[in-house]
Amino acid sequence: MARLFVSDVHLGADSAPAIGQFLEFLSTHAARAEALYILGDLFESWVGDDDRSDAALTVCAALKALTAAGVPCFVLHGNRDFLLGAGFCARTGCRLLSDPVVAELDGERVLLTHGDALCTDDHAYQELRSIVRARDWQRRFLALPLAHREALADEVRAGSRRHIARTVPTIMDVNGEAVARAFRAAAVRRMIHGHTHRPGVHDLTVDGASVQRIVLGAWYEQGSYVSYQRGSFELRTLPR
Ligand code: MN
Repeated sequence: MARLFVSDVHLGADSAPAIGQFLEFLSTHAARAEALYILGDLFESWVGDDDRSDAALTVCAALKALTAAGVPCFVLHGNRDFLLGAGFCARTGCRLLSDPVVAELDGERVLLTHGDALCTDDHAYQELRSIVRARDWQRRFLALPLAHREALADEVRAGSRRHIARTVPTIMDVNGEAVARAFRAAAVRRMIHGHTHRPGVHDLTVDGASVQRIVLGAWYEQGSYVSYQRGSFELRTLPR
């Protein structure tokens, strides 16, 4: 049986086609898998586990069906849904993993990360990240009424769109030295991440060793996942 990896599904109120495709992925590919790993940004936005939007309810129910059927599902925080918490886990049966995390796949240690922490050339984003990932900030934010949190999240998304529009694309890709540091720190030869929406398989050399960086694609226009089985990793697209 395969272990499957997805990232950047970006599900929300405006993504009915992606929701449909992801639900089908869950009930077919994932239902037959040994485990599913979601490497961040499952949701376009997540302002707290009290989110009762249609998109959240539908997706959470489908994840619950998957885990109830015996397929373990592991979730990392992305930059859009870093507030997924214990309530989300209770609703879905998913387990949150810290980012980065090393998974052992048939004896090979593989680094799993959302990928935003590797984009160190984007100083403005890294500054925002350090603010919103602080426990105190999150406690204060989650104490606000839901409607207030949603309004703030809309503002942040609009700000992010402006930032992306005026930032050189390479600045928003991973930084080579940050990638090398991540390989070194985890002492692994392979990593899987998303976030950059630049799907691909990159064979690199770090400190004289051959390593591989597998990048998952976003689900805005089509599906993207990695299937791991018997020592081999395959990056696949799912046409919509
Ligand atoms: Mn992301």
